[in-house]
Amino acid sequence: MLKVNEIYASIQGESSHTGLPCVFIRLTGCNLRCSWCDTAYAFHDGKNLTLAQTLEQVETFNLPLVEITGGEPLMQEEVYPLMESLLKKGYRVMLETGGSLSIDKVPEKVIKILDIKCPGSGEEKKNHLENLKHLSPHDEIKFVLLDRTDYEWSRSLMQKHDLASFTQVLFSPVYDKLDLKDLSQWILEDQLPVRLQTQLHKVIWSKDAIGV
Ligand code: SF4
Repeated sequence: MLKVNEIYASIQGESSHTGLPCVFIRLTGCNLRCSWCDTAYAFHDGKNLTLAQTLEQVETFNLPLVEITGGEPLMQEEVYPLMESLLKKGYRVMLETGGSLSIDKVPEKVIKILDIKCPGSGEEKKNHLENLKHLSPHDEIKFVLLDRTDYEWSRSLMQKHDLASFTQVLFSPVYDKLDLKDLSQWILEDQLPVRLQTQLHKVIWSKDAIGV
């Protein structure tokens, strides 16, 4: 049984798949409490669905791209059969994870968007950096930046682990907190090989909209 907060279709707002129509499966529960979290409604609320019921709902949208997110989707054991079933059905599957739990059992074919939590989140001590060795070139690492301190911390971690040499690196400002122009300027000054992103779904709808 899966505890599911919501299943909906929207425009992918993050990652290098930004702009593509996508079905989102948001699983309930998270083991972190990021200071700027925008999905606290997924900490507890949700209904129990069988794997078959979940797949049935996904199928109604008839889209080839599916993202499993949360919360922290890896907290639920049933997420593994879910990923396997979606792959078997031919979907392109993305997984967004907070980066504190091991991704070693996630199927290689799943596109993993692995967060690395910065100091501004208050959760940087939970980063499970062992995960870096399980990443493939199609996976992505996402830093969500609250301020200049987070930027410098991320730049340094990125350089220490030479992240850009084996995966894509995304720098995303906390929406409405860090100015996109400032972040762009810093990236250009340092010639950092990262992809700037914003949360497109918040630009299209609103920063507080749920289920889009
Ligand atoms: S990992 Fe994601 S869902 Fe969990 S507290 Fe942080 S931002 Fe919120």
